[in-house]
Amino acid sequence: MSKEAIKNALSTVKYPGFSRDIVSFGLVRSVDFENGKAVIGISVTTSDHKVAAQIRDGVEAALESLPEVKNVEVNVSISPTKKPEAATPGGTAPTGLPSVKHVIAVASGKGGVGKSTFSSNLACSLARLLSAEGKKVGLLDCDIYGPSIPLMMGVSGRPEIEDESIIPLLSHGIKVMSMGFLIDDDTPVVWRGPMIQKTINQFINNVKWGELEIIVVDLPPGTGDAQLSLVQTIPLKGAIIVTTPQLAATQVAKRGARMLEKTNVPLLGVAENMSFLEDEDGSKQYIFGEGGGEKTAADLKVPLLGKIPLDPNIRVAGDAGTPISLSKPDSSSAKAFDAIAEAIIARLGN
Ligand code: ADP
Repeated sequence: MSKEAIKNALSTVKYPGFSRDIVSFGLVRSVDFENGKAVIGISVTTSDHKVAAQIRDGVEAALESLPEVKNVEVNVSISPTKKPEAATPGGTAPTGLPSVKHVIAVASGKGGVGKSTFSSNLACSLARLLSAEGKKVGLLDCDIYGPSIPLMMGVSGRPEIEDESIIPLLSHGIKVMSMGFLIDDDTPVVWRGPMIQKTINQFINNVKWGELEIIVVDLPPGTGDAQLSLVQTIPLKGAIIVTTPQLAATQVAKRGARMLEKTNVPLLGVAENMSFLEDEDGSKQYIFGEGGGEKTAADLKVPLLGKIPLDPNIRVAGDAGTPISLSKPDSSSAKAFDAIAEAIIARLGN
């Protein structure tokens, strides 16, 4: 029996209270198997001993169900968290953001598909829909190479520090945090890479987000190791893949989805952006082709959440700092974002 097979069994053990498993959270430190005996090393950062006991029980149950395994030894090392609100189950993977009900990510396989435009409008639509119930929304920009959320949300400046925590900036009633607030435009890109993980950890553990219903996370484009380790750091409830209508784009979108699947983040669905240009008479031109959203969603076996038109007013609104969802709520583009926001609220449930 291979260590890989044991690891596969361990990846069915969920971190208590999470849909993600202990392997993707990086808690499994060692796996040994000899003469029918499996010895597993787990390292967890928590102040709650029940969590460690539940993980131990889960590991034992998962491995005892394997016929080749006769004996299981689980060694759990626990390091207490400094502050309960900065609890991390292990390594860099936090259970941070305890006052936030749902953290969802917006991802794309590559840049330029409108991921940041989508994230900012989605956050605004969610905020508007949820405000009736007194619920609030946050927007976390993790795109360190080209943070465009500050421009699109019309917000800039340095966040204040209070009790060693960063206070997010407020824009259109949405709490916003971005690398763009912390670095100057002329910070060389080569310096940003090493800063990313540290900064994102801070965004999760050291930002006073307060009580929020949903945080929308704008992930950096691409599917490399940096993106993967970043995704593992954020306690995500789900992710949305943004793609364009070209059939050629589906391969790239699926690469993004596969990266998320590696970390067991559930996919909430696909959003197609720049779908069609609508003329005044209501006729549609499919500038970037057709079918990319449907194909991506079908291949990934998740719903197509909606289609966003290619609309010059979307760009103009973003450049002016008030996303179209707020500046022209009656436009068909704003309604397309609203429909996706409603679908997401329904999928997340309570
Ligand atoms: P990404 O985050 O994927 O790199 P952006 O959100 O920055 O992409 O969008 C790239 C450019 O395309 C921006 O100038 C943006 O205003 C524009 N854009 C995005 N979506 C649309 C759309 N549906 N209609 C018109 N312009 C759009």
